[in-house]
Amino acid sequence: MVDELKTLVTFFGATGDLAKRLLYPSVFNLYKKGFLAKNFAIVGTARQDLTDAEYQDMVRTSISEGQDKKQVEAFLEHFSYIASDVTDAAGYVGLKEEIEKASDKFGVAGNRIFYLAVAPRFFGTIAQFLKSEGLLADTGYNRIMIEKPFGTSYKTAEQLQNELTAAFNDDQVYRIDHFLGKEMVMNIAPLRFGNPMLNTAWNKDYIKNVQVTLAETLGVEERAGYYDTAGALLDMIQNHTMQIIGWLAMEEPKDFSASEIRNAKNAAFSALQIYNEEEVNRYFVRAQYGASKTNTDHVAYTEEPDVPKDSKTNTYIAGELHFNTPRWEGVPFYIRSGKRMSKKTTRIDVVFKAGAFKFGGQQEPQETVLTIVVSPDEKITMSLNSKKVSDNFSTQVINLGWAPTDKEKAETPAPYERMLHDAMDGNGSNFADWHGVATAWKFTDALSDVYAADKAPLFTYESDTMGPKEADELLAKNGDAWVFDGEE
Ligand code: NAD
Repeated sequence: MVDELKTLVTFFGATGDLAKRLLYPSVFNLYKKGFLAKNFAIVGTARQDLTDAEYQDMVRTSISEGQDKKQVEAFLEHFSYIASDVTDAAGYVGLKEEIEKASDKFGVAGNRIFYLAVAPRFFGTIAQFLKSEGLLADTGYNRIMIEKPFGTSYKTAEQLQNELTAAFNDDQVYRIDHFLGKEMVMNIAPLRFGNPMLNTAWNKDYIKNVQVTLAETLGVEERAGYYDTAGALLDMIQNHTMQIIGWLAMEEPKDFSASEIRNAKNAAFSALQIYNEEEVNRYFVRAQYGASKTNTDHVAYTEEPDVPKDSKTNTYIAGELHFNTPRWEGVPFYIRSGKRMSKKTTRIDVVFKAGAFKFGGQQEPQETVLTIVVSPDEKITMSLNSKKVSDNFSTQVINLGWAPTDKEKAETPAPYERMLHDAMDGNGSNFADWHGVATAWKFTDALSDVYAADKAPLFTYESDTMGPKEADELLAKNGDAWVFDGEE
């Protein structure tokens, strides 16, 4: 049995791609699992004029494939729609009435979630109108779920934060980073804190370096308009990579409440070294993909449709972070993310120091690695030094491994399902905290400023490789190497 949640969710951008592709199927999964049963309501709003029946039809199309028809119809009864322009105060009058009507009809006890599945320029406006036009409930809770991106720089993010907190308390703001809803990212804490062996060793005495890789095989595709203004730095590093780093670098929380988890991550982020121009060049490599030698369809980034021929946008970033804490003194956190790489993977490699013991004068023990593959094939492996099967003390590295079964994978909630559930449940553990977001912006702003002024080289890497050689050299100067070289 699961605990039923009483809630009313208003989806702004109810006719958009995100809502149709990810949000409605996620809400339906929560319904099928019993988290939503009788006392829930969904109010959709967007600019288009739709009747309730037309809206329900749209939601039906987005969820119904292979589903129980009767269950789908019972689910859809909880959906209603009202057109509104989010920039116009007048639209909020009808929306308020619709929310109050649905709230009474389904007995949701005043609990309200406002999900902003609209363009980021509307986030602050909507939050302010929700308050000024009286859409916040007096009883129960009010929560606001914010899509990415949260700003485009520290300054714009701070402005958005101010607009949101003029209407909501910070603990009512649920900033979405769907990487935080991924099963294997959520597995970092149980692995670290559930195993004294790892927890004791999770520091500079035992860990040589930490590596986080977010590699994509796709090129820019038809997203050039957006991507050319963001690059890998803002598309993947500022948000997803930094949020993963938060779990890896954090101190041990006092307990596993959302506020203590966020406090512990914030303590680590507060100690993140923000770089000056010289350090940006020393610790970071930016690059752009050139043509592939193996696939003629994979053209150079500047040959892609809608990309300016003289674009200096980074499609690849690799770098080294440092945390000024006793735990991490001298331990580099290497990060990299790029498009058109040879293998699609999101993975974490924690490299442990090698032992000093020489087995009978034979081979030295090797560095060992805890690997967490987040996607696409989830798995956890740990390498260990072990005796080679022979009559002397030669060593070899062996791998212990685990991967979820197909059944477990099928039962794993998708990130959007998990995040909707957690917001309904008031659990903010897997959402981005303002302090962390702010630090990530300050960190990436320092790089963006150097890149905008063209004060760092822009390297080229061949498409369908793991990036430029300069990124390998970045690690080599510390006596390190990327664990993942494109081959499993
Ligand atoms: P979309 O363009 O498909 O949909 C936008 C929605 O906003 C539509 O319902 C549209 O009617 C509505 N809208 C636009 N202007 C409006 C106005 N003035 N008043 C009221 N409604 C208005 O966009 P999307 O892809 O669904 O993205 C929505 C948000 O989610 C964006 O912030 C995006 O960055 C984020 N996001 C999207 C995805 C995705 O896979 N689509 C993934 C992650 C984050």
